[in-house]
Amino acid sequence: MRDVDVVVVGAGISGLTAARRLVEAGRSVVVFEANDRVGGRTMNVDVTDGVMTEGGGQWVGPGQDAALALIDELGLETFNTYTQGKSIYLRKGKRTMYDGVVPPLSPLTLLDYAQLQMRLERMAKSVPADAPWDAKRATQWDSTTFGHWIDRNARTAEARWLMSAAFSMVVCQDPRAVSLLAMLHLFRTSGGVEGPLNVEGGAQEARVVGGTVRIASTLAEQLPAGAVILDSPVEEIDQSDAGNVVVRSRHATVRCRQVIVAMSPGDAQRIHFTPDLPPLRTKLQQVGGGGSMNKLFMVYDRPFWRDDGLNGQALSDLMMTPFVSDNSPPDGSIGILVTFMLQSTAHTTLTWTDEVLTSQDARREALTKDLATLFGPRAAEPTQYLEKLWTNEPWISGCVNMLAPGSRSQFRDALTQPVGNVHWAGTEASIDDHPGYMDGAVRAGERAACAAAAACH
Ligand code: FAD
Repeated sequence: MRDVDVVVVGAGISGLTAARRLVEAGRSVVVFEANDRVGGRTMNVDVTDGVMTEGGGQWVGPGQDAALALIDELGLETFNTYTQGKSIYLRKGKRTMYDGVVPPLSPLTLLDYAQLQMRLERMAKSVPADAPWDAKRATQWDSTTFGHWIDRNARTAEARWLMSAAFSMVVCQDPRAVSLLAMLHLFRTSGGVEGPLNVEGGAQEARVVGGTVRIASTLAEQLPAGAVILDSPVEEIDQSDAGNVVVRSRHATVRCRQVIVAMSPGDAQRIHFTPDLPPLRTKLQQVGGGGSMNKLFMVYDRPFWRDDGLNGQALSDLMMTPFVSDNSPPDGSIGILVTFMLQSTAHTTLTWTDEVLTSQDARREALTKDLATLFGPRAAEPTQYLEKLWTNEPWISGCVNMLAPGSRSQFRDALTQPVGNVHWAGTEASIDDHPGYMDGAVRAGERAACAAAAACH
């Protein structure tokens, strides 16, 4: 049986960062990955020869210092999201174009949105970043949803719609399914209420040349040969032999001193632990899944909207285009528009027809129509339609996890508390800084590596 210091389970950004830091600390490492690729929630979608677009996580921005430092360390480069020109806002059939970040709202709606934002900022400040469960009103806020709070506190229908729609895209699910406390904690740890939404100066400021999956693929390439074992879902982690842990994957068994499980709690639930995990950790994993966001791409021979003074961004109440962004390659050699689709029939902010949910042709047709409404007739002449449906991923159960009501207050630090020689990484375990983001994945991986390396002595 192969014997190493540390086994890392999961070759996403978090697991591979942990493995890199462990190797730097002189530890021997094996990384088991269930899938036939590294990168987890980051991956490339091939468009044409030499051109790709990001099927999963794609943006990095200021404050995401751990991710930006790692990108730099790996010799990768970023480029800014295209922002030159006007954005489009379309609601109830009225299409307007605007500069800057604030859509053209009536003074009353603007005031209403501002009061919602101010109250959320104030509430978020009272949530401790490293222990949201200690907020004075933690139980109360965790037993209601963000959507319910918006419904109760918005005075205008448009501000209510706008806030719900905008944040559906951030958390990959209907705000009515998301805990208010989890949302306030997200604001506290990810640049306030505006941070997650903004392009310049916000979470969507930049992309990685060649795609964010290059973070994971470069990390994997630079590990010692044979360290990463693909197609090897871990089925059991056995701590019954004091001092040793035995990790059994479908194709190999490895003995080690410490283990890092680097995935969302919902995904860790598929692994059998001997002895059983503490009840709070088990319960956390049972509710740990998250919302899934699918990405749809329309490809054009060139980014034609730029000729019309548009930056490719749009916010609308059209079925297929709640939020559109310019996802063209850095040189603009071809044009790509990306839109996001929440695959949930229970979604009440935007409702998709059954046909669109079940048929790729229907999605392509509906997307073409909505993009033409936003960007004009040239949008109806794409060269290609592509999509990445995360709901079809075998090993990844959601985009952003741990947002269900009750989860922040009830499970407290079970998200990070080691169990024997098992440490927890994965972006969700970066409680105090950018959980849910690639940045959080790096931070959680580095933290777990530090703990595992120290415990190996
Ligand atoms: P993962 O990437 O989920 O890695 C976990 C790995 O564990 C996976 O490779 C999985 O296959 C593997 N695994 C699961 N079970 C087992 C098992 N039993 N045995 C072995 N291996 C197993 N973040 C941003 O910062 N900016 C964005 O713009 C952004 N947009 C996003 C858009 C979408 C559509 C999605 C899906 C995510 C987005 N994110 C974004 C989130 C970001 O991608 C994640 O936070 C980050 O990639 C998580 O990395 P991770 O290593 O923690 O987990």
